[in-house]
Amino acid sequence: MGETTVEVRKVKNYINGKWIESSTSLYEDVVNPATKEVICQVPLSTKADVEYAVEAAKTAFAKWSKVAVPRRARILFNYQQLLQRDKEELARLITIENGKNLTEARGEVQRGIENVEFAAGAPSLMMGDSLPMIATDVEASNYRYPIGVVGGIAPFNFPMMVPCWMFPMAIALGNAFLLKPSERTPLLTEKLADLLTEAGVPDGVFNVVYGAHDVVNGMLEHPDIKAISFVGSKPVGEYVYKKASENLKRVQALTGAKNHTIVLNDADLDDAVTNIAGAAFGSAGERCMACAVVTVEEGIADAFVAKLKAKAESLVMGNGLDDGVFLGPVIREENKNRTIAYIEKGVEEGATLVCDGRSRVSADGYFIGPTIFENVTTDMTIWKDEIFAPVLSIIRVKNLDEGIQIANRSEFANGACLFTTNAAAVRYFRENIDAGMLGINLGVPAPMAFFPFSGWKSSFYGTLHANGKDSVDFYTRKKVVTARYPKPSFD
Ligand code: NAD
Repeated sequence: MGETTVEVRKVKNYINGKWIESSTSLYEDVVNPATKEVICQVPLSTKADVEYAVEAAKTAFAKWSKVAVPRRARILFNYQQLLQRDKEELARLITIENGKNLTEARGEVQRGIENVEFAAGAPSLMMGDSLPMIATDVEASNYRYPIGVVGGIAPFNFPMMVPCWMFPMAIALGNAFLLKPSERTPLLTEKLADLLTEAGVPDGVFNVVYGAHDVVNGMLEHPDIKAISFVGSKPVGEYVYKKASENLKRVQALTGAKNHTIVLNDADLDDAVTNIAGAAFGSAGERCMACAVVTVEEGIADAFVAKLKAKAESLVMGNGLDDGVFLGPVIREENKNRTIAYIEKGVEEGATLVCDGRSRVSADGYFIGPTIFENVTTDMTIWKDEIFAPVLSIIRVKNLDEGIQIANRSEFANGACLFTTNAAAVRYFRENIDAGMLGINLGVPAPMAFFPFSGWKSSFYGTLHANGKDSVDFYTRKKVVTARYPKPSFD
């Protein structure tokens, strides 16, 4: 009997309100990382596709930017309702294409919806300010306007939340948007686009072009794209930041991380262990806010390591769609192999392997178990590099200050956490740690939509962060009108 081959669906680009086949002949398989099943094929689109999408966006911008702000906000309210209606389907898509468990996927959908809710506040967020008397009979007012066509480039690890950091606010403020999702997670974006159209966003205001570096370069070079929002790894973020700046665009680039958590002797031990296990191994460590290093005070270290090891070993690994599964796969075979290479490097460089994820590698998908290293030092590769997998390093420290000094040696400075019951320690930590997002007695201090996602050092390039008031400034430009009104004559 001959083999039957099943035709795999080819994803299309979304341009001017229509799903359109890319002009490329190159497609890449999109794989469910828990099963290795090919779920669709994504086009590696061309610069011509970018050109076409930007043209559509530019045309749409001319009208959309003139739509009354409350009307635009009302469409965002519709969108919020539709996302709520379909949230279970959205979560399942995330689990299927990304691998994180369904509970985490539902959490991600919720965070995305919160961005839409924040953006629906556009009428108040977009208000300018004025001063009625800057000189005799002279006043000044500051007005905000959208900037034009904005480009967004997203990573694989949050297929819903990260694009939602970008386009809801950008379009609510009157811009048109071109999104390039990660080529590894295209499914969720299809749904985001369809629901936007259902909500009433006019054709061309939101466009999606799938692909890799050719699409990114097409966007970075295009003169009609006025701003770029990028989220991804540090090397690519640096490249995007430099190239977009060279082409005179506004740019915000949120990049890699190596987040440190400090556990003091007076911390609630069980609470710290539960939160740190979730932060280090949740979403298979593929979070820019994942806990990658713990510096623990010596007095509590033995008990902490023993409990964390037991917790890590108890975590259920498997397909995130199945009940009770905590740890899903990493995204691709190369990520799994890269993680194994880091574990080997850690052993070679002299760290002590407390929990070896290699013992739980499974051939069914790209699974690798939770891994814990002790006796890590800051000259080791496993301390320096962002591994982006369920691998945690532990360093014993004499006190809080030593923990802070170690964290501050990292080139990255996205998040940092402290577990303690001492208020003075909290204050000292806040004042002395180099990181833009801090957590006190919690594992993943990702700020909500109305606060900036404020990484420091090599975790962020730009001035205005994603989310919060920064995002309003990033996606608008200002006009200041100075006007003299000579006193009318009443004779
Ligand atoms: P990535 O840098 O590989 O990809 C990000 C985007 O850039 C994708 O759309 C990809 O297609 C594109 N890209 C990749 N290589 C490129 C190249 N050579 N030229 C042009 N474009 C290219 O990142 P990823 O693996 O998808 O995501 C993981 C990374 O994202 C981690 O480093 C993580 O820390 C980071 N991240 C950061 C934040 C944050 O807020 N700081 C949030 C989420 C993820």
